[in-house]
Amino acid sequence: MLLHSTQNINETSNFSDALLNPSAENNALYAPLNLPRLDFKQLRNLSYTEFALKIIEAFDFDLDLEIFKKALKTYENFDDASCPINLKKINENLYINELYHGPTRAFKDMALQPFGVLLEYLKKDNSYLIMCATSGDTGPATLKSFENKKNIKVVCIYPDNGTSKTQALQMIHTKADNLKSIAIKGNFDDAQNALKTLLQDDDFKNILKQEKFNLSAANSVNFGRILFQIIYHYYASVKINQKIDIIIPSGNFGDALGAYYAKKMGANIAKIKIASNSNNILSEFFNTGKYDLRNKTLQKTISPAMDILISSNIERLLFDKFKDERTKNLMQMLKNQKFYELTQEELKLLKEDFEADFCTDEECMQYIRDYQDHLLDPHTCTCFKMLNLNTPTLITSTAQWSKFTPSMYKALFDKECINEKEAMKELAKKFHQPIHKNIISLFEKEDLKIIPCKINDLKQIIIDWIKQ
Ligand SMILES: *Cc1c(COP(=O)(O)O)cnc(C)c1O
Repeated sequence: MLLHSTQNINETSNFSDALLNPSAENNALYAPLNLPRLDFKQLRNLSYTEFALKIIEAFDFDLDLEIFKKALKTYENFDDASCPINLKKINENLYINELYHGPTRAFKDMALQPFGVLLEYLKKDNSYLIMCATSGDTGPATLKSFENKKNIKVVCIYPDNGTSKTQALQMIHTKADNLKSIAIKGNFDDAQNALKTLLQDDDFKNILKQEKFNLSAANSVNFGRILFQIIYHYYASVKINQKIDIIIPSGNFGDALGAYYAKKMGANIAKIKIASNSNNILSEFFNTGKYDLRNKTLQKTISPAMDILISSNIERLLFDKFKDERTKNLMQMLKNQKFYELTQEELKLLKEDFEADFCTDEECMQYIRDYQDHLLDPHTCTCFKMLNLNTPTLITSTAQWSKFTPSMYKALFDKECINEKEAMKELAKKFHQPIHKNIISLFEKEDLKIIPCKINDLKQIIIDWIKQ
């Protein structure tokens, strides 16, 4: 199967090329034109890896299944070597899909761990600079995935003070020489824009070429990541074995897009419910059909990985529902007028699959308290606003609580957290939850002073690092 540009179906790419060069012309994305359908009844009783291979095989991409098998082996380093996710039944109609059992304790590992193996294979003898912009969890997961890999360098750009301290420490304390993280003055949208600009910058690419480096990106727009984010939603729906709603804390819309693709591929999913924080551009979009960036500024919330206004993967949904020409027009409008609006007909089509709502920080704190026995992180807790206990529902848990200790502590002890390590231990003790060694060890290292850089200096900083 080939992938198609979301803004021109005649521009195609095979899977391997799209993984190395994730942007199509005009900054469009690559997406499948039709999704293969599987009979979910035939997928029961498979192990997670066997299941994953069935889904991958159905796409009939240009890459050997043996390579995917090798990539999926990375899941053996998750908490349970036989299954990377932990599907929990909370009560008769409520399940939680815990996706944070990998090395960096966020769902980003689900895609980035196998993605690293695929990219390493595909690059052959070439050297690659892989860049990513992160709102907090993609960065650590990308760095981890490429740690010490030969002929690969990784630069990860993150908003200074825009992530949790734990997330920043995860990036700062990566030891490997081939990895670099850079804090910028600005928010996540600025970081993502800076990345897009560099990916299009011919001068930058030429300088890299002289140093014998190709350029690629590990952001959630890379279809190589989306592929692995289809599997866990589908797998959970088969295990639950009845029609379910899935609620997903969303930012860049990669996780939710995976659920939408899973549904199209035959997973027994009723509604996909999009949870936002007070950066509620997505819930506004799904309720009104308006994507409106005018007069909006990014708010800092206690769910920083969702502090996003420009949600890149919506473009793939538009393409799937309304085809390439309409997508191109809408994306053009967003670029020029910071606004677009769907027709009522189009909105109705979206509402067949989606619902959406948002949670303020105060509401989110209350949900953390309401579900304290399960110690759920602030991102996951944005889901509860839309929970309807009359229908079987799967809540997607995207990160482990320990990455957001100060907010958890504030919600549950009603006190400011002074010493993050001690607060983490206090929470773990009171709620009988373990802290992963990769997290607690971050607080045993020396505190480093980070000086954020100006976005205009970014290019030179990266070039200097590549040259040294
Ligand atoms: C990245 C992230 C999200 C948002 O996922 P998208 O795929 O960007 O919508 C939600 N929660 C956590 C903890 C994350 O790291």
